[in-house]
Amino acid sequence: MITASKIIGNLSSPTNADRRLIEKAYEYSQKAHEGHKRYSGEPYMTHVASVAYMLAQMGMGPRTIAAGLLHDTIEDTDVSSEDIRNEFGEEVLFLVEGVTKLSSVRYYGSDRHNESLRKLFVATSQDIRVLIVKLVDRLHNMQTLEYVPEEKQLRIARETLEIHVPVAHRLGMGRIRKELEDLAFPYVYPEEHKKVCDMLEQSTSKSKDFLEKERKNLQKKLADSGLTDFQTSYRVKGLYSLFHKLKRKEWNIDTVYDLLAMRIVVQSVEDCYRAMGIVHNLWRPMPQRMKDYINLPKPNGYQSIHTTVITGSGTILEIQIRTEKMHHEAEYGVASHIIYKEDSISGAAGGGSWFANLVPTLFRPFAWRSQQEHINKEDLDDTKDVHPSQKIPHWIQQIGSMYTHEKASGEEFVEDMRKDFFSNRIFVFTPNGDVVDLPVAATPIDFAYAIHSEVGNHIAAAKVNNKMVQLDTELHNGDIVQIDTKKNAHPTPKWLPIAKTSLAKRRIRSALSEKDQT
Ligand code: MN
Repeated sequence: MITASKIIGNLSSPTNADRRLIEKAYEYSQKAHEGHKRYSGEPYMTHVASVAYMLAQMGMGPRTIAAGLLHDTIEDTDVSSEDIRNEFGEEVLFLVEGVTKLSSVRYYGSDRHNESLRKLFVATSQDIRVLIVKLVDRLHNMQTLEYVPEEKQLRIARETLEIHVPVAHRLGMGRIRKELEDLAFPYVYPEEHKKVCDMLEQSTSKSKDFLEKERKNLQKKLADSGLTDFQTSYRVKGLYSLFHKLKRKEWNIDTVYDLLAMRIVVQSVEDCYRAMGIVHNLWRPMPQRMKDYINLPKPNGYQSIHTTVITGSGTILEIQIRTEKMHHEAEYGVASHIIYKEDSISGAAGGGSWFANLVPTLFRPFAWRSQQEHINKEDLDDTKDVHPSQKIPHWIQQIGSMYTHEKASGEEFVEDMRKDFFSNRIFVFTPNGDVVDLPVAATPIDFAYAIHSEVGNHIAAAKVNNKMVQLDTELHNGDIVQIDTKKNAHPTPKWLPIAKTSLAKRRIRSALSEKDQT
């Protein structure tokens, strides 16, 4: 099992307080989960220790790592929020509670709610670190999915593809995204998975030997041209993303040019273009295949130069050229921007948090506070007037397109997010945990019609959070709504002003007019 000191070993320069926090969280979690087992038969602690370890590897700070260790305590053990607050303070509690809340966002197999689910997922998390812990939690659960009872595997794998993968992608976290996709793929599309594996195996087994030779060849050329500080490697395309490409290309693998890619990681942007020149000099570039994502980053912030070449041996090869920083950002996305930023507990380190700067009024003060440099304690709660920092990576602003399709500035993004999540829409749950997205002030009648018109047309009674309520009761975010139906219950004209959605109003009207005619 991963030990506390192994986790701490990943921190770049931990203070004694950092060490103590992680050790304490480790011991506390171990005691809380005592006797609990994973489906694999391993102690539960292996799961939370793995999550904490991965967070530490990504460069997350001590409090996020502590939250990783404690993330399942409130939900699965006797530990209360009060206990966590007393032992670890507000900020760790805030992170643990955030992760706990996120587990109520579940996918129950209906595609029509996916977009709402993703929004709810992001909105519920409140702090980007909560989202990161949750994605890493999911990653470890997917890595151990084979031990989970078969009837649950498909739901979990689909949920991963529908919610976690798009969120990881939107946050630019390429490494987690690829791994989540490839872990979920065989459960959700078993036949296609096998087909893609076979095709890839056939197609690349021939080229792998060439590739190592070509890589050495390229290294020599780069060095000859005076580039000294660079790394080259190659990667095989992820199976799930290959699957999507193959579907677009009528399953003709010969037309997929980025099956194999060679990566060149250099020190500066100038070196990227120099390396590109050297590559084009060595191998013949394919026309129209050069993409400069350095000057025109992808919407999720991805930066690199891509070019496709035909090597001496005739193999078609995609070359990706980027700086070390771009490489790091492509792997960890949003996380790479808060890496090194969560101050160590002594408060010595720190720096501007783009995310907290971006959404100071939306996010709880902690995210903001922990990343402020040289700030008096008294000033901490009064951060509302601070303007978004100029240093926000420009692509972060485009996360806004998750909510609107326009390019939004930082402030518009905050506005959109608030409108979208906190003014216009509410998210309520069925007793099964299926999420239903409704306008604010919606009532159980709207809920019933959103489920199915037959449910709406036969409402006998409604319960909200297990209590009987009047049909005109206003629903709130997170309510669990249950509708009892009876065959002989029917809409009445009184329902019309109670219904807020046009769908419900329409259905009620047509039910009423049908009744008139009979
Ligand atoms: Mn967990």
